[in-house]
Amino acid sequence: MKAKLISSYELAPQVHHFLFSVPDVEQLHFKPGQFVSFNELLNGKKITRPYSIASLPDGNRFELCLNLVQEGIFSHFLFEMKPGDSVEMGAPLGFFVVRNPTKEAVFIATGTGIAPFRAMAPDYLSHPHAAQLTLLFGLRYENSIYYREEFEKFAAKHSNFRFWPTLSRPEPSWTGRTGHVQVHLLEAIGDRRDMDVFICGLKAMVDDVRAILKGLGFDRKQIIFEKYD
Ligand SMILES: Cc1cc2nc3c(=O)[nH]c(=O)nc-3n(C[C@H](O)[C@H](O)[C@H](O)COP(=O)(O)OP(=O)(O)OC[C@H]3O[C@@H](n4cnc5c(N)ncnc54)[C@H](O)[C@@H]3O)c2cc1C
Repeated sequence: MKAKLISSYELAPQVHHFLFSVPDVEQLHFKPGQFVSFNELLNGKKITRPYSIASLPDGNRFELCLNLVQEGIFSHFLFEMKPGDSVEMGAPLGFFVVRNPTKEAVFIATGTGIAPFRAMAPDYLSHPHAAQLTLLFGLRYENSIYYREEFEKFAAKHSNFRFWPTLSRPEPSWTGRTGHVQVHLLEAIGDRRDMDVFICGLKAMVDDVRAILKGLGFDRKQIIFEKYD
């Protein structure tokens, strides 16, 4: 399959939101939270990179949230794409999907790790008996809280959804949470040990959060994660 870029825009410095379509199919089937793999011949080598879909199923369209990795290869290729350009793509895959929306859950993301949660949060909350969901989102600066307005509107609409951005480099004017996501983990889970915790982002954060949860007595099956590196 080929994915054709329709449009893209800047979410924050070095972070873009992309809208693609797959002209070969009428409907791109996937579960919210799954990823697509892009392949391209770059510098004479076939390179494959997975990307979490940051949108709900919508005909043959899908969205991505990507950051430009300075020393990387594929992210540069994607950031240089122009509307109408195509990239080779494999069918959506992955097990990082909502399991039981009637069970309380915490979603933890840093940076572009927010991508699958932009699809999984509405998926979870669309269940008529959805339990409480907390989205803990760690970033450096206030101006890079991607999708902030969207998640805030969502929290206003769903009383069982809490959106908790936390900044590691806040301006003095910021009155919200500060520090890394790890600092707010206990506040999010309280005394409960019967919830699912989904984690997405770079390895260092994911491993750290997993270790904290294991130390608190969480079972392996309750900790579901996607590592980007
Ligand atoms: C299941 C899965 C889903 C993914 N979804 C996304 C997504 O939705 N958005 C996204 O931007 N990336 C995502 N990634 C990462 C993506 O596949 C690439 O690794 C990334 O675009 C860098 O590719 P590159 O060729 O430019 O750099 P590479 O040469 O692959 O990587 C260079 C270095 O950058 C680090 N790195 C990898 N990904 C990131 C990142 N996102 N931010 C900062 N450093 C990184 C790696 O540790 C590596 O050392 C996902 C990875 C996996 C495994």
